[in-house]
Amino acid sequence: MNFGLSVADQRFRAEVRAFIDAELPSGVRDKLAEHRSLTRHEIQDWHRRLNRRNWATPGWPARWGGPGFTAVQRSIFFDELHQAPAPEPVSFNVAMIGPVIATFGTQAQKERFLPRIRNLDDWWCQGFSEPGAGSDLAALSTAARRDGDHYGVNGSKIWQGMAQHADWMFTLVRTDASAARQAGITLLLIDLRLPGVTVRPILTMDGRHEVNAVFLDDVRVPLDCCVGEENGGWAIAKFLLGSERTGIARIGMSRHILRRARQLAALRPSESGMLSADPVFRQQAASLEIELLALEITQMRIVADADAHPDTPDPRSSILKIRGTQLRQQASELLLWAAGAPALAAAGEFEHFTGDDAPAGADWAPTVAPVYLSLRAASLYGGSTEVQKNILARTVLGL
Ligand SMILES: Cc1cc2nc3c(=O)[nH]c(=O)nc-3n(C[C@H](O)[C@H](O)[C@H](O)COP(=O)(O)OP(=O)(O)OC[C@H]3O[C@@H](n4cnc5c(N)ncnc54)[C@H](O)[C@@H]3O)c2cc1C
Repeated sequence: MNFGLSVADQRFRAEVRAFIDAELPSGVRDKLAEHRSLTRHEIQDWHRRLNRRNWATPGWPARWGGPGFTAVQRSIFFDELHQAPAPEPVSFNVAMIGPVIATFGTQAQKERFLPRIRNLDDWWCQGFSEPGAGSDLAALSTAARRDGDHYGVNGSKIWQGMAQHADWMFTLVRTDASAARQAGITLLLIDLRLPGVTVRPILTMDGRHEVNAVFLDDVRVPLDCCVGEENGGWAIAKFLLGSERTGIARIGMSRHILRRARQLAALRPSESGMLSADPVFRQQAASLEIELLALEITQMRIVADADAHPDTPDPRSSILKIRGTQLRQQASELLLWAAGAPALAAAGEFEHFTGDDAPAGADWAPTVAPVYLSLRAASLYGGSTEVQKNILARTVLGL
């Protein structure tokens, strides 16, 4: 779909698509299409291919050595990745800590970290949430106490995405317990190979290992790993959380799931022939497609304004997060319907079927339920739906 895209933007879309077709290994595309986990090497390899094209840092302006995409180009870029499907560049690196160091870091920190961030030589994870501090992040209690040329850090973090692959964690710690909650917080960069760091896997209900808990016991973090002022971390955290919202609606991903649901429905018998001919299925699929189109128009309106205010996060991006998540969840419900009961079976259940005996979709069906299950968490991470609604009420509706 090309909503009033300029010729240059249409050309850019074609260029991104051609790059993905030429460079994305088919095994990676297949794994993503079936919601299977990629290895560290596969993600790193793709990220580096993007970096060679200067596309691993789509949100970086040219003055940081990024591609200097316009907001519309960024939106097109992510849409093409999501539809392919291809992995996004590792966002903890390029959308979170990279911009933070480029904006608030010392010259030495920029030189030390930025080139390694963009090429995924160092893999970063985000250590913000704690067992008692999620939506209310300022309640965090992991403590850092100055001790000579180090901070001694003690506490624990939870839900660190992909920390099993990570070398470093950017984290919020409490450096002044006597100050007002937000005033006593500092942003530290912690090398996960330091003594006292333990990363433990958390297996989620989709059967995957994507998140972890990180324990910090007397970890000695050099003072030069503090970003910005000590006790000035809250403003940096707000910058980080608000800075890169492009692609948050993940419309291309919803379209990919819907496409797959339609393919599977064409294989599945139902009372009225194949499920793909069932009027209720068709109505729900069409309705979802229309909603996705409506969201795409909303996204374009928000994105079109972004270049005029590049340094101010648009609170309306909360609409994109809420609605994008709802539609992806709906798409996964259609996919589950299309797969039917075999979706609930464990992967090995159908192995004894051969040839014509095999129920339609026996091989793919067990890859469907994990998509549905993992998307339940999408309304929590990246700012929960309720918290996004609070933002909209306050900043957009003025309530
Ligand atoms: C898959 C996944 C990956 C994650 N990855 C990371 C990561 O890499 N790094 C990291 O630091 N964190 C990560 N998180 C943590 C995520 O940021 C938190 O789960 C999120 O901030 C919510 O915090 P919580 O889990 O403590 O829930 P809570 O904050 O306790 O919320 C529980 C419920 O209460 C609601 N609620 C809370 N406050 C309000 C309010 N003021 N008004 C109305 N309703 C409210 C919430 O919407 C939610 O429904 C991840 C989480 C998940 C599920």
